[in-house]
Amino acid sequence: MAWLANHHICYRCEEHWVDEWSCQCDDECPYCGARNSSPVESEDLSGFIDRDGLDYVVYVSPGTAEHDPDYEEIGRYPSERIAKMIMTRRLKWEWRKAFGSP
Ligand SMILES: [Zn+2]
Repeated sequence: MAWLANHHICYRCEEHWVDEWSCQCDDECPYCGARNSSPVESEDLSGFIDRDGLDYVVYVSPGTAEHDPDYEEIGRYPSERIAKMIMTRRLKWEWRKAFGSP
């Protein structure tokens, strides 16, 4: 499942908050309780790269994750370029597994 950080700006009180979830859901304003606020922007957090010593470690949220990202370590690579390639490929694969072929 894609893991997203949804940014909301309340249509009533104009407060901003971030909601992390596995879909682009509507949310309730934590400040004034206004309902059905739609995200104004979504960041994809389905995968990220972390440094560990000399290694670049790729983490990806698996297609089965629902209520938290449940990141899995995919592998460790000597260069950031390779790590990014692996992450992109893995995310496409997880996406296909979760939603079927495009
Ligand atoms: Zn509000």
